[in-house]
Amino acid sequence: MRRWSLAVSLGFLLACEPGGAPIPSSPAATTPAIVETALPVAAPAASPTESPALATGRAPAEAPDPETASVEQAGGQPARPNVLLITVDSVRADHVGTYGGPARTPTLDWLASQGVRFTNVYAQLPQTTPSHAAILTGQYASTSGVRIAHHDALPDGKPTLARAMQDAGYQTGGIYSWAGPVDGFDQGFQNYVNVATADADGRADLTTDAAIAWLTKAAAERDKPFFLWVHYRDPHYPYEPPAPFDTLYAPRCDGCVDGSLATLNRLHGGWRPTPAELARILAAYDGEISYSDHEVGRLLTQLTALGLEPTTLVVVTSDHGDAFGEHGEWFHGLGVYQETIHVPLVARLPGALPAGVAFDGVVQLIDVMPTVLDVVGLPPAPSAEGRSLVSALRSGGTTDGPAITEVSDGHYTAVVLGEWKLIRDNLSGQRALYHLPSDPGEQRNRAASDPGPAARLTAVLDQWDATRAAGTLWRAP
Ligand SMILES: [Zn+2]
Repeated sequence: MRRWSLAVSLGFLLACEPGGAPIPSSPAATTPAIVETALPVAAPAASPTESPALATGRAPAEAPDPETASVEQAGGQPARPNVLLITVDSVRADHVGTYGGPARTPTLDWLASQGVRFTNVYAQLPQTTPSHAAILTGQYASTSGVRIAHHDALPDGKPTLARAMQDAGYQTGGIYSWAGPVDGFDQGFQNYVNVATADADGRADLTTDAAIAWLTKAAAERDKPFFLWVHYRDPHYPYEPPAPFDTLYAPRCDGCVDGSLATLNRLHGGWRPTPAELARILAAYDGEISYSDHEVGRLLTQLTALGLEPTTLVVVTSDHGDAFGEHGEWFHGLGVYQETIHVPLVARLPGALPAGVAFDGVVQLIDVMPTVLDVVGLPPAPSAEGRSLVSALRSGGTTDGPAITEVSDGHYTAVVLGEWKLIRDNLSGQRALYHLPSDPGEQRNRAASDPGPAARLTAVLDQWDATRAAGTLWRAP
């Protein structure tokens, strides 16, 4: 089977984008090599506590009439809404302030207060390139062909969200800040900039500057809507936020453990932090999240200044989370526990989406593409395996389908359905079942005590496996 053959690529995978120790059976196993380099960062221009609304001094926007939520074209025909898709790398949902986490995120708070906060969102593969491919194509990694980070690329001609938008007459721009080889993500973008140069990798301020420059230019063409994808890398390790975010959650301490590459390499070598040392690493991680939130706020402030905020669908999410030893894993890539696959997702378009709503149905990142197309009134992509969430949102309903996560080497597959989550070790056949509302830390395996849910979720994975073996698209039952 294909998934087993991928196991031989594991060494390469670890060297390129480290995840953590193999889990769940051997929490003491070693952490893979870390090869990335730390880069300097610049101080932000403003306070991290300012929301886009506060930064501009304007009152929070009121929801306009749906009829006005579109731009007038020169010929009098209403244009479709603009789309601003923002992905912030490596943000686990439970660390985001908007989700009750420790990292203050006033921008996301502001967006969620006027849009939809999805509480139950899952990445399809917890690594940067495969997960972004899933977002852009609406397909699982095992379908899109982008399964191994820094190795696989989207095949030429692959249907993507950018291509669909461009074909519909949108101006399309992509601002990406992840250093890597050709990944094919530029398909469908009229303008595509990778700001992850040798001295700019992880610089959210430069990412925002590039996005603002593109946005300002696109705004000049009022009769043509835009689709802009902006990727912020900063919360990805190493964790070295600029001032004042570096001391937002822990005081300065010379010689103490920090979130630098040196610390990460110590972890790789088997060192494990004390609770106090782990708290400092987490403080640096949370500082990166707040810094990125601040930069997203700066971008949204410009969106408002250009008069585009009422007619722009804003979507903010992350490609995966990060683990800090909870189940023996550090960082991301190999495990499928909540810390690396449960991500935030917030969407706002005044008048078109509900405001101030928490959506608790199970959602997958492959649902982003179908949902965006639906919101702006474009036909669904037949190639997408995700589903539009629009009807559930507008009806006040929910989703009843599963979320499925795979890993590059095929070792584990996870499925979330309703309140239950099942992790299957594809090598041993062992299963672990967790009841997420009562056990969000996934500590009590109930596979034996709750055979009904275990069988139900196993059946979903079996159906999903069958589509992988047949090379067909997954359609949720
Ligand atoms: Zn990532």
